[in-house]
Order: sequence, then C-alpha cells, then structure tokens
Amino acid sequence: MSSQPIPPGTTVPAPEVQEVSDGIFAYVQLDGSWFLNNAGCIRGARSATLIDTVGTEARARAWHATVAKLTGLPVSALINTHHHADHTNGNFMFSPPAAVIAQERCREEMVANPGFPRRSPLFPNTDFGDCPPTPPTVTFAERMEVFVDDLRIELISVGPAHTTNDLVAWIPDRKLLFSGDVIFNGGTPFAVFGSIAGWFEALDTIQALGAETIVPGHGAVCGPAAMEEVRAYLRFIDAAARRGFEAGTPPLELARGLELGPFAHLCDPERIVGNLHRAYSELRGEPRGAALPLMEMFSEMVEYNGGQPLRCLA
Ligand SMILES: [Zn+2]
Repeated sequence: MSSQPIPPGTTVPAPEVQEVSDGIFAYVQLDGSWFLNNAGCIRGARSATLIDTVGTEARARAWHATVAKLTGLPVSALINTHHHADHTNGNFMFSPPAAVIAQERCREEMVANPGFPRRSPLFPNTDFGDCPPTPPTVTFAERMEVFVDDLRIELISVGPAHTTNDLVAWIPDRKLLFSGDVIFNGGTPFAVFGSIAGWFEALDTIQALGAETIVPGHGAVCGPAAMEEVRAYLRFIDAAARRGFEAGTPPLELARGLELGPFAHLCDPERIVGNLHRAYSELRGEPRGAALPLMEMFSEMVEYNGGQPLRCLA
C-alpha cells in the first residue's frame, strides 16, 4: 500500500532521446516518478521548438546540451504544457531569447509561485539548483497554432485536468501527441491541482484526435492504450470517493483502506490521497481547479507512505 524508502545509492537511467517522428524527438526521463518528466524537441530548418523543460538546474543544463547536439540551432519557441516545476524549472536555459508559450493560467500560476528553491522540504534529498523564475511570454485561452516551417502544432487547452492550465500539443500530420501530464504512463495520475471531472473530459478531447504516438508527461513513449489506463484509474478514484464521501470517511483513512488492485504497479501511489481530496472537493460542489490546502495534502501523502518523504530521484 505504501512506497518503500529509497535505498541508498538508488539511481535512475540517464535521460534517453527517441526520434518519435522525422525531426521530432522525445526526451524521456525514466522511471517517470516525481520530477522525472519528459520533454520534446522539434527541429526546424533554422530554429528548434521545444515542448517543456526539466526540473533541476543540472537536468536543465543536460537538456540544453542535448538540444544543441540534436539540432545545432537556436531555440525560437518553448511550449510549457502546464506550470509544474518539473516541466518549467529549466525555462531559464532557453528564454530569453526563446518565446515561452503556455495557457494563460499557467503564467498566472508561475507568477504567483515563482520557481522552486534549491531545497524543498517536500523533496529533502533533491538538489534543484538555481533556476531563475521564467514565466511564459505568450499566452492563450483555448487554442493556438504554432508552426515549425510548414509543420503545424495545435496547442489545445484541456484543463482543468491534471492542473488548471493543461495544454496538449497535437501534430496532426504525424498523428503525434505531446500530452503533458494529462497522460502518465506507468505513474499514478495526480489531480490535486486540477479536476477529476475535467480530466475525464480532457481524455475525451484527446481521444478524438486519433493519436497513434503519445509522448506522455511521465513514463515511456506510448500509444493510445495509455489513455485507457489513466481513465480507469480516475474511475477507480471517482467511485471510491463517492462511497467515502457518502460515509463521511476522511480521504487519508479511505486511501489506507483501499486495495490498489490493477493500479498497484503505478509509481508514486501516495498521490491517491491528493486525488481523493480533489474528488471530495468536487463532491462538495466546489469549482474545478479550486485551490486546496496543498501542504496539508502533501503531508498526508507522506503519512500514507509511513512517514517516508516522497520518493524523488531527480
Ligand atoms: Zn505535472
């Protein structure tokens, strides 16, 4: 039911580059657990366009070096799929001069909560380095198109789902989707910043696109089946929350009594506590994405883990 402590000397594989379509690269950081996210790079004729950065200064420098090696070109645009620091802490390596493009609430979140400090009590064993806050410079509400030469990238706002400000980057000519954290592949979906009800709708929206290849926000590059696993997990949360809410069971207590069953293999299972809190908020009739007391939720997640800090290998 709970995560094991991190054994000393535990390491994760080096980030891996995968050419998912001609001139389009996924930067995959396994095992996809806390702060090990994916990013993307689209090589144009005269400049590169990126989708997301990574979460620590050291990893941002490595991503920057990888982009230079893959393209040898300046980066003209950087798309942030949402505001979370694992996807945006490294913005400073590229902007200026790159334009940073995001959904409008992403900028609001990043301006209100600038950056992640070198040390965070949430992840006491991780050195985040020095990542100067670099919020988006170009924002939109619903949809935006970005071109890399003739290649069209559709940015579609699908939040609140994982957060209030999720976008997906859809490249119709290649049937390729950069989903941000609307898809976790092999990790526990995390809705505490967003909405369970909204997430179901986001999955409907992206399902209708007909992607053949998905670069998820966390975990290995996948196909459309990964959407079904996220949907099944959210259904499990939704059903459990309805029962627990009705019975007046606090989310942590409910989480402790739940068998994860087919979801037991997903990493970072403690997110269930935050997910149930979000579901309860919606059952109380609060708006999607309404602010919740995050520090309390994170400390309950640590409690769920038997007092162990969240397992962060970034
Ligand atoms: Zn995220």
